[in-house]
Amino acid sequence: MSDPDCLFCKIVDGEIPGDVVHSTDHSVAFRDVNPQAPTHVLVVPRGHHRDAAALAAADPAGVADLVDAAAHVAAAEGLEGYRLVFNTGEAAGQTVFHTHLHVLGGRPLSWPPG
Ligand code: AMP
Repeated sequence: MSDPDCLFCKIVDGEIPGDVVHSTDHSVAFRDVNPQAPTHVLVVPRGHHRDAAALAAADPAGVADLVDAAAHVAAAEGLEGYRLVFNTGEAAGQTVFHTHLHVLGGRPLSWPPG
């Protein structure tokens, strides 16, 4: 379930370093290298799926695990509120094609997003 050409598979496998803040049997959470908020963490499944929809189709419980891990991260960071984002497809800004849930918080977050 690992793609040898995938950046986030390499972080999950420990081949390249990540600033890991939380880890379970199913997911790994690490800080985004280009943070868009004081807290910006990516939660990724250990298995390789190209986006959230592909993960939901293959492993519905895996999606719930990502959200649960995100809540754990938010609590650990002391966030009163936070935003969860799955960019899905290039047109929506997805650049890494391994499912990842952005956890953003620590500043006021405007709506609608850009
Ligand atoms: P997206 O644009 O939704 O696909 O999000 C990909 C995210 O991965 C971006 O916010 C990048 O800043 C982040 N990113 C890229 N490379 C790394 C890395 N090596 N470690 C942590 N985050 C990364």
